[in-house]
Amino acid sequence: MSDRYAVIGNPVAHSKSPAVHAQFARATGQDIDYGCIEAPLDGFADAIARFRAAGGKGCNVTLPFKRDAFNLAQRVSERARLAQAVNTLRFEDSFGDNTDGIGLVRDLTENMGVALHGRALLVLGAGGAAQGVAGALLGAGLRRLVIANRTLSRAQALAKRFPGVIAQGYDALGAEHFDVVVNATSAGLAGESPPLPEGLLNENTLAYDMVYGRDTPFLARARAAGARAVDGLGMLVEQAAESFFIWRGVRPATRPVLAKLRGS
Ligand code: NAP
Repeated sequence: MSDRYAVIGNPVAHSKSPAVHAQFARATGQDIDYGCIEAPLDGFADAIARFRAAGGKGCNVTLPFKRDAFNLAQRVSERARLAQAVNTLRFEDSFGDNTDGIGLVRDLTENMGVALHGRALLVLGAGGAAQGVAGALLGAGLRRLVIANRTLSRAQALAKRFPGVIAQGYDALGAEHFDVVVNATSAGLAGESPPLPEGLLNENTLAYDMVYGRDTPFLARARAAGARAVDGLGMLVEQAAESFFIWRGVRPATRPVLAKLRGS
């Protein structure tokens, strides 16, 4: 029988993780079966227990369970400890990791050729995704990393854990130029955009929305302002490759998978 993995979230039906891991498995000759589990909002631990009992070897964890996964793991990586969020569980040693940060940085630097060193970057949102990427972004040598959130206290709590991060409310985002603006909010899933000041997105901005598989108001607004607008599909593929490596000890090539998903 194939080794079983899954992505667990709520909602999760839209996830492209099963398609990504199926392609990784084919390309590397690994015999895995990767599915999709929607857990009730108050039933994450039970869903994990059931999946383990049914022979599951590990899983990816998505919204809104990354904190629950962090609490459930008996041992976590340093990057997951800093993020206090886990997106990858390996059951055999109850290990939790967070591959979102490395996924975003690899997509920006390797797939898109964006040099982050010395740049000013703004992250919108302070939820699980923002927490997962803050450490890796700081490690990329940015000149300035600002995190803006609707609930300011959440951004401030994040900044406390990551010295070097500056927390702001949306109303404090003024005329400052950011080379890269990463939308790490879930606003796009509801067809909404975070409230951005006029001029924040312009022809000198890379606007990156972590949401993938749909056009979002943030991306539409970026395009209208002449910015380079990119969705989070590359991040999804890169974070998945790192999870695959954690489970299987094999690092799959990401470019062919990303190209196929983009239909190019
Ligand atoms: P989360 O923990 O639920 O946090 C949601 C964040 O979005 C919070 O900061 C929240 O602000 C903010 N938000 C929601 N609606 C908003 C609105 N209308 N206006 C302004 N801010 C709003 O979710 P998450 O785990 O961080 O995930 C965020 C997004 O990233 C999701 O869409 C997820 O699919 C995506 N993601 C993609 C990848 C990838 O590989 N491409 C990886 C990880 C996550 P408050 O704190 O004020 O509520």
